[in-house]
Amino acid sequence: MRKRIMDERFEKVNKMLLEQRKELIQKIRSKKGDQELQSGDLIDIATDSLEHELNYIFEEREREKLQNIDEALRRIQDGSYGECDECGDDIELERLMALPFTRVCLDCKAKQERQKKLKLYAEHEDEPSL
Ligand SMILES: [Zn+2]
Repeated sequence: MRKRIMDERFEKVNKMLLEQRKELIQKIRSKKGDQELQSGDLIDIATDSLEHELNYIFEEREREKLQNIDEALRRIQDGSYGECDECGDDIELERLMALPFTRVCLDCKAKQERQKKLKLYAEHEDEPSL
């Protein structure tokens, strides 16, 4: 197995992600605890179900974030982190610090945005006019 020393450029990002991960897990855990405590109380059913729904949305979002963090940490470990998926260039370090889950460099992101807009425009053009 190929062993790689972690790229020192990403030490800060790695640390930041580990902290975020810890906080997130604590947040999910404390939220779970809240739910258990409330389950025995008499709560208005409408409020209760709304709260469950909100909890569900919250959990989905947090879980997704956790997956993103794990994915980024894994890529830091295997050395593929910080490489643009599109052009293979290094992603700007400031960009990674601000958006640690990004997988494309600024240039490619701008290109993607342009294409998305063009596609939206094209789709709109295809719509039958009434
Ligand atoms: Zn790129």
